[in-house]
Amino acid sequence: MMAGSGYDSDGRRGITILGSTGSIGRNTVELVEARPDLYRAEALVANSSADLLAEQARRLRPRLAVVADPAHRGRLADLLEGTGIQVAAGPDAVVEAAQMPADWVMAAIVGAAGLAPTLAAARRGATVALANKECLVCAGQLMMAEVARHGATLLPVDSEHSAIFQVFDFDQIDKVEKIILTASGGPFRRRSLAEMAGMTPEQAVAHPNWSMGAKISVDSASMMNKGLELIEAHHLFTMPEDKIDIVVHPQSVIHSAVAYVDGSVLAQMGSPDMRTPIAYALGWPRRIAAPAPRLDLAAIGQLTFEAPDPQRFPALRLARLALQTGGSAPTVLNAANEVAVQAFLDRRIGFLDIARVVEETLAAVDHVPLGSIDDVMAEDARARHAAGAIVRRNA
Ligand code: NAD
Ligand code: MG
Repeated sequence: MMAGSGYDSDGRRGITILGSTGSIGRNTVELVEARPDLYRAEALVANSSADLLAEQARRLRPRLAVVADPAHRGRLADLLEGTGIQVAAGPDAVVEAAQMPADWVMAAIVGAAGLAPTLAAARRGATVALANKECLVCAGQLMMAEVARHGATLLPVDSEHSAIFQVFDFDQIDKVEKIILTASGGPFRRRSLAEMAGMTPEQAVAHPNWSMGAKISVDSASMMNKGLELIEAHHLFTMPEDKIDIVVHPQSVIHSAVAYVDGSVLAQMGSPDMRTPIAYALGWPRRIAAPAPRLDLAAIGQLTFEAPDPQRFPALRLARLALQTGGSAPTVLNAANEVAVQAFLDRRIGFLDIARVVEETLAAVDHVPLGSIDDVMAEDARARHAAGAIVRRNA
C-alpha cells in the first residue's frame, strides 16, 4: 500500500462510487454529500436501479452516471435530462467510469463483476477504497501486483480489514505473529445443522448486527464471508493462511486484531456501522467525522468470544483449503459460491447446499496457475459452468 496522489486542483477530492445504490454505496454517498468542501463526485455506477441512481446523481452532481444493465439506460437518461450529467450503460461504460480521473474510487460492486472496473481504477494509480472483497479472492495476487506496479493505493473498507489496517505495523511485518479476524457468527450461530437445512433466504439475510446487501448477508450466514475475508486479509497484509485466526464474537464490537511477538494484541472497536470504516477510507490519511452510533461499552456490558464450529460452517475449511491450494482454487471457490448463493436466493437449493456446491465444484474443476486477468476470467467462467451443473443436480 503506497501513498495516494492527494486532491484535485480545486482542493477537493474527486470521488467515483462503483455500486453507489448498494448498501456500501448509499453509505458512501451520504458521507460524500455531507462534505462538499472536501469532495466532489466524478462518476456514479449502479447495476439497474436507475431511479435511485438518478436521485443520487441529482444530489451529488457527478460528471457521469452509468447503469451496467443497458435495459435501464433510457430510464436513467430521462430522469437526468437537462442536468448536464452524462449517461452511459453497459459493462464497458462501467470500466470507463472507473477510468475517469477521480482520486478516490469506492469499489462497492458485489461479486467478481467488480474486478474489471476495480482493476481499471488501480491501473491509473487511484486510491481505491475496496469493499468488493470478491475481486481480491478471485484475483488477489494479480490485483496486488497491479496496485504496486501503478502506484495505486488500496484502502480496505471491509470492517475487519479496516480494523487491521488501523493497528497493523507495516514497518515491522516480521513482528506480527498473527491476525485475528472476528466474526459475528451470523443469524445461524446457534442453529443446529437440522435447523440450518430448512432456513429460507429471508432468515439468512436477517443479520443480527449488520445491515448489508443480500449476497454478503447469505455469506455471513454460511460464514463463507469470513472465508472470503481470510483470503482478502492474506493478500492485503501478506499473511500466510496459518497466521490468520478466526474467532466468533457475537457483539461485533471488536472488528479484528493484530497480535505481535511481544504478546501485545491491538484491536479496533466501534459500533457495527459501515459508515465508520468507509469514513476512515474516505478521509485517509486523516480522520473525518462519521454519524455512526457511539460505542457505549457499559451498555454493551459483555464482549464474548467462541471458536467457530467447523461442522456447521464448512465454508471456513473450504476457504482455507482454497488458499492453501493456491492458483485458481480461490477463483473457483468464489465463483462457485456466487452461483450457489444466487441459487439459494432463488430458492433452487437449500441453505446447506451452498457449501456443498462449493466443495463439489472445487473437487470437479482442475486448479491451474493464474498468469493474467484473462486467466482469472476464464477460470471464473469455467467454475460458474461447473457449479451451475452441480446446482441443477442438487435442485
Ligand atoms: P449490494 O447488493 O447492496 O450493492 C451492490 C451494488 O453493486 C449495487 O449498487 C448494484 O447496483 C451494483 N452492481 C451489482 N452488480 C453490478 C454489475 N454487474 N455492474 C455494476 N454494478 C453492479 O451489496 P453491498 O452489501 O453494498 O456489498 C458490496 C460489496 O461490498 C460486496 O463485495 C460486499 O462483500 C462488500 N462489503 C459489504 C459490506 C456491507 O456492510 N454491506 C461490508 C463489507 C464488505
Ligand atoms: Mg467484513
